[in-house]
Amino acid sequence: MRSSPLIGIATFLATKILISTLIVGLVILGLSLLIGRYFCGWICPLGTVIDLSDRLHQKFLRGKPNTIRPLRAWKYSILIVILIAALFSTQVIWFFDPIVIITRSMTAAVYPLIAFLLESGLKLLLSVGILQDQLFSLYDLFRQRILPINPIFFQQSMTFAVIFIGILLLGLLARRFWCRYLCPLGALFGSFATLRFTQGIAVASDKCIDCGKCQRICKMDAINADYRSHARSECIECMSCVAVCPTSAISYQLRPKFAPQRIDISRRRFVYSSASGLIALGLIKTGFKNPIATGQVVRPPGALPEPEFLNRCVRCQECVKICSTTGACLQPGLLESGWEGLWTPLVNARHGYCEYNCNLCGKVCPTGAIHPLELSQKQQLRMGTAYFDKSRCIPWYRGEDCLVCEEHCPLPDKAIKFDIREARRPDGTVAVVKFPYVDEKLCIGCGICVTKCPVPGPGGLFLTNAHQQRWGQEAEF
Ligand code: SF4
Ligand code: SF4
Repeated sequence: MRSSPLIGIATFLATKILISTLIVGLVILGLSLLIGRYFCGWICPLGTVIDLSDRLHQKFLRGKPNTIRPLRAWKYSILIVILIAALFSTQVIWFFDPIVIITRSMTAAVYPLIAFLLESGLKLLLSVGILQDQLFSLYDLFRQRILPINPIFFQQSMTFAVIFIGILLLGLLARRFWCRYLCPLGALFGSFATLRFTQGIAVASDKCIDCGKCQRICKMDAINADYRSHARSECIECMSCVAVCPTSAISYQLRPKFAPQRIDISRRRFVYSSASGLIALGLIKTGFKNPIATGQVVRPPGALPEPEFLNRCVRCQECVKICSTTGACLQPGLLESGWEGLWTPLVNARHGYCEYNCNLCGKVCPTGAIHPLELSQKQQLRMGTAYFDKSRCIPWYRGEDCLVCEEHCPLPDKAIKFDIREARRPDGTVAVVKFPYVDEKLCIGCGICVTKCPVPGPGGLFLTNAHQQRWGQEAEF
C-alpha cells in the first residue's frame, strides 16, 4: 500500500503535506516512463487475482466479444474525479485504489473467512476424538502463528466481499475488465506509459503473417487491428504476445524511442469528469451524519485530528485486523461520522476494548492516519470517556454491589471510584451500596469497563469521545 503512487498523490493533494510514501510512489510511477505500465502486469496484487479468476471465466467468454473499447475512457474519468476531490480536501481514493481494495478485501472478508473455516474444521476433528495431541498442537500453531485473528466477521465484511466478488465477476464481460476500463491507478500508469522514452513491444512488419494470435492473447486488448501497432497506455508489459507469435515477429526492446500517443479521453469527457468530481465533492460534503452516533465516534489511540484523519485514512482495515488479535475494539464504521467517514475505524467498546499494553494500530497504519505511539505515550492518551448509565448499572438500578468494571480498569489509580452510602432497593430494603462513578480526569477511554460489564444488551456503561485527545492536540475539558 505504501507503494501506490495514487495514494501518495491524492493524500498530498488532500492534506498538502508531503508524506514519505509519496516519494516511493513517485519513483515507482517514474519508472513507467522507461518500462510502461509494468506495475499492472507484474506487481499489482489485484491484477494477479483478476488474472486467476479470469482463467475460470474463459469458458464463458468463448465466442463472445471481449472488447468494449469506448469504455477505456472511464478509468481516466475516475482518476480525474479522485484528483479533483482531493484537491478540494476530500478523499475518495480509498474507494477506488486497487491496492486498497485488495488489502481491504483480504483483511476484512477473505482472511476472517479462511480463519473461521480452518478453525471450525479443526474443532470438528477435535470433537471426533482421534489424534487429539497432534490436533491440539496444530490448533495452537494456527491460532498463534498462522492466523492470529479472531475468526470473526467485521461489521462491513459482507459489503467488502460483495465489492470484491463483483470486481472479479466483471471478468465475465471482458478479461481484466477492471484494469482496462475502471482502474484509476492503471489510468495513471497508462498516462505516463504513453510518454515513455523506450520502445517496448516492437513488431517486425515483414515477419508478421496476420494470424491474429497476439491480439487474441492480449488480456488488455492493447493490440490494434493491423497487428503491427498497439496502445501504449493499455499494454501492461506481460509479454504474452511475444511468447505466442509463431514467427517471432514481436520482440520487447528497451532501445530509446519517444513516440507519444493520445490517451483515450476526449476534451468533453474531461470537462464532464471534472464536473462530476465537484458534484461528488458536494454530495460527500453534505455532512450527513448519524446524529445518535456522532458523540460515540471514538477513534483509535494516536488518531490525527478528525479532518486530517479522514483525509489520510484509506480504509485498508489493517488497524482493524491487528486490533482483532488483542483488544478487538476496532470495527469499520458506517455513517457515524458522515459519508466522509465511511469504513473508517471506530471503537466499538461493547464488542472489545483497547488493550492497555497494546500500541499496534499506529504501527501498522500505512498512511500515518494513526500516529505510531510508544506504549508509555499511548497509555496516557485519552481516546474518550466512559459514563455510567444509571438506569442499567446494577448498583445504581438495583442497589446491589458490582465491582466488575472497577476490577478491569487497567489504570494504576483506577478511573472508576465509589461513592459508598446507604440506598433503598426496589424491594424497599435499605443497604450500604458502593455506587461507581468515572473520574473524568483519569479515564483514558480504553472501554474495557464497557466491554466487561455483565449487564446484557448495551450494558451499564457507554463510551463517548468526550475529552478525547487526538495526536498533536491537548485533551478537551
Ligand atoms: S492500541 Fe488499542 S485500538 Fe490500537 S490495536 Fe491495540 S487494542 Fe486495538
Ligand atoms: S487508520 Fe490507517 S490502518 Fe486503519 S484503516 Fe485507516 S489507513 Fe488503514
